[in-house]
Amino acid sequence: MAAKYWVVVFLMMHAAAAHAQSAPEPIRYTLSFPAPQTHYVEVTATVPTARQPVVELMMAVWTPGSYLVREYERNVEALTASGADGHALDVDKSRKNRWHIATGGAAAITVKYRVYCREMSVRTNWVEADFALLNGAPTFITLADLAPRPHEIIINPAAGWKRSVTALPALNGGDHRYRAPDYDTLVDSPIVIGNPAVYDFEVDGKKHSLVNVGEGGVFDGARAARDLELIVKEDRRLWGFLPYDRYVFFNMITESGGGLEHKNSTVLMTNRWATRTRRAYLSWLQLASHEYFHAWNIKRLRPAELGPFDYDNENITRSLWIAEGFTDYYADLQVLRAGLQTRDEYLDDLSSTIELLQTTPGRLVQSAEMASFDAWIKYYRPDENSNNTSVSYYTKGTVIAFLLDATIRKATNGAKSLDDVMQLAYEKFSGPKGYTPEQFRGVIDQVAGRSVQRFWESAVEGTSELDYTEALDAFGLRFRSAAPQNGRASKPWLGMTTRNDNGRLVITQVQRGSPADTGGLNVDDEILAIDDFRVRADRLDNRLEQYKTGDKVSVLVARREQLVHIPITFGAEPQKAWRLEVNPNATEAQRRLLDGWLRGESAAARI
Ligand SMILES: [Zn+2]
Repeated sequence: MAAKYWVVVFLMMHAAAAHAQSAPEPIRYTLSFPAPQTHYVEVTATVPTARQPVVELMMAVWTPGSYLVREYERNVEALTASGADGHALDVDKSRKNRWHIATGGAAAITVKYRVYCREMSVRTNWVEADFALLNGAPTFITLADLAPRPHEIIINPAAGWKRSVTALPALNGGDHRYRAPDYDTLVDSPIVIGNPAVYDFEVDGKKHSLVNVGEGGVFDGARAARDLELIVKEDRRLWGFLPYDRYVFFNMITESGGGLEHKNSTVLMTNRWATRTRRAYLSWLQLASHEYFHAWNIKRLRPAELGPFDYDNENITRSLWIAEGFTDYYADLQVLRAGLQTRDEYLDDLSSTIELLQTTPGRLVQSAEMASFDAWIKYYRPDENSNNTSVSYYTKGTVIAFLLDATIRKATNGAKSLDDVMQLAYEKFSGPKGYTPEQFRGVIDQVAGRSVQRFWESAVEGTSELDYTEALDAFGLRFRSAAPQNGRASKPWLGMTTRNDNGRLVITQVQRGSPADTGGLNVDDEILAIDDFRVRADRLDNRLEQYKTGDKVSVLVARREQLVHIPITFGAEPQKAWRLEVNPNATEAQRRLLDGWLRGESAAARI
């Protein structure tokens, strides 16, 4: 123990000495958009060399929060380097995302390149005549040593673009100048340039901005900002504080979807009509609520493996079902608690999540931990068989959070909850250390006042069916009966999905164990006829209505141009008995726990 102690002291002294010797010089980027309609940003970077004869540059291959290697360097063109006197330097591309540059002894070199920006997603870049969305990872080439040096940005907006917005602190000396203290912050700070509509509000004296690109006179920005403020206040109530000085909601109204979390901002993508119908608007609020909750859960309280990031390789963790699943659980719950959703709507959404899990065959194949571990090769690379072999860590994580919340509230008679787990976990593990799954379980044990190990082994590490009995009993809930009404027989069922491919009826997925699966219907088969009667692409449902469960038919398909007759026996559609409702016979104690859960209050707090 003593020896270890001295190693630590030595390393600290060494680090302090190194820091005192050389505060690292910043890299300075200038971003220009001479022809934004062609989708390019031009980058000029002044890179300090510390007088090394050769420097190595790198570009991240992935964006934290989105677990897939995306090879951003494929969009980089025309990379050149020059020395102090402007003469060209040799550039040697050494790996897919790395470059060696001989400096000729210059103290700083100038690196120029262009980036093609035309992938509309929350993690990539888009540049067009009207605006630019730039993310750090696909834009900035940096020194491969990743020493904690500042990265400064000067933006030359395209003609007619009036604003640039980012959560990065401003750099003195004029508009459109920003400074990231280190590369991690640069990557974590998207930038929007153009003429967005900006709505500011303050909570705890801290500035929050909703930045809307593409409102088009349709998206109701003022209302959205008012409601975001309620969500911010509700999360502030749960956690007890706001963990940042300023926060930006980038809302790209670009007919796309998704969201990505950052420490001090988020990028959301939505469609223009998202504030027009209640269902669409609730989905948007839940998306914003999800990404905002990440400001605590994953950006500051994170799995141990998710930092410091390795920008060249996959960063594997077993804990995405906590980092993403718990976040998804709270996303909806906080929208309810903020008064933006009714209890019936909330229970209906939770029911849909439970139903999605319980109708995914892969839940019996892949555990929540392994779904997290394999996110890079499975969740982010889905195929026609994914439903049969994998489970979403969002979906299962949400359901596990619900079950644990109920367990804790029941075990403590409403005095404690999963909210307390999140607070205590933050207290213990936020910042650079992060948590292991075992440490997170320890926090749950501590708050619940009992071990959840057996539940953990089965629900988190295992693949057995979840048991809802205790959770339903805690809150006086039940699953609504889904028995066929008026004695009607259940619909005949094949267990597959199809698409209408220009009038061709093509199988897209076959569910494991279904009549389609066991009978031998395959993905990509084109269904031509049932019992020698033609089935048109838009008439399959209508044809199935002519049969009943147990009927035997012959399905004619075209498989790689060959006609094949396949005998099939229709099964019965699985009962979807996963809709939650309050049991009319719920006791007073059950109703009190239910109320405390949905309001975000513990019984102790209310007494
Ligand atoms: Zn998320």
